[in-house]
Amino acid sequence: MDFSKIELFLLDMDGTIYLDHDLIDGALDFINALIATKKKYIFMTNNSSKSKKAYLDKLNFLKIPCQEENIFTSGMAMGIYLNTNYPDKTVYFLGTKSLEEELKSYHITLVEDNPDIVVVGYDRELTYHKLEKACQFLDDGAIFLATNCDLVCPIANHRYVPDCGSICHMLTTATKKTPTYIGKPSPYMIHILSQKTGIKVENIVVIGDRIYTDIMAGYNAKTMTICVLSGESTQATIDESPIKPDYVVNSIKDLIKFLK
Ligand SMILES: [Mg+2]
Repeated sequence: MDFSKIELFLLDMDGTIYLDHDLIDGALDFINALIATKKKYIFMTNNSSKSKKAYLDKLNFLKIPCQEENIFTSGMAMGIYLNTNYPDKTVYFLGTKSLEEELKSYHITLVEDNPDIVVVGYDRELTYHKLEKACQFLDDGAIFLATNCDLVCPIANHRYVPDCGSICHMLTTATKKTPTYIGKPSPYMIHILSQKTGIKVENIVVIGDRIYTDIMAGYNAKTMTICVLSGESTQATIDESPIKPDYVVNSIKDLIKFLK
C-alpha cells in the first residue's frame, strides 16, 4: 500500500474510528500519524440528523484531534448541493432541528407551501403531517432530494431504527417518485470535498467499514478505497460483493505502518 500520493483521507466514523462510544484500537495513533505526515483528513458521515458540532463534541470526547473543518455530514453536502444546482429554489424539508439549522446556514429558503424541492433527511422528529405535505408537494411536481439512502441506523445492543432511506421508500410507495440521494454511495460528497480542498480524486482515499456506502462512494468517485473489518463488513461480505475495495485490513491500526 502506498500513501505517498494520497493527500486527503476521507474517514467513516462508526465501525471505522469508534464503535458506539468506544474508540477502535489504533484509531488515535492513526490520526496522529496523519497529522505527523501532514495528510489532510475529514470524517465523512451519512447521518443528517446531527450537527457537525455534535460530531465534533463526540470526537473530542474520545480525544481525537478534530476541528469543524474535519467534519462533513450529508446535511452539509445537501446545503452545498442545493446552492450549486438549485440556487434561488425553495425547499420543504423533512428533518431534525439540526438539519434545519444546517440548511439555513447555507441560506436555503425553507418554506411550508409550494416548494420547488422536497428534501428528506434522517428525520428523528418525523410526523404524519410532514409526510402528508411531502406527498402533496411531490405529487404537484416538486424535485425529490434526500440526504442518505440508509434504510436503518444502528443503535446500541444490536438494535436499529428506520433511517432516511426507509422514510423515502414510504414516500416512493405513495407517490411513485424516487429521490436523488446526496450521501454515500453517491459520489457527490467526495466531489464536493475534492472541489473544496482542491485535491484531485486520484489523491484521495476513502476508508470505511461498509461496502455498499463507503467503498461504493469511493468507487463511484474513482478514489482509492480501503475496507476495514472492524465494523459491519466481514471477508465473506467482501467476497460476495461485485464491488471490491482496493485494500482490506482488519482495522485502521494496520494502516499506521504505511504512514511512516
Ligand atoms: Mg461505518
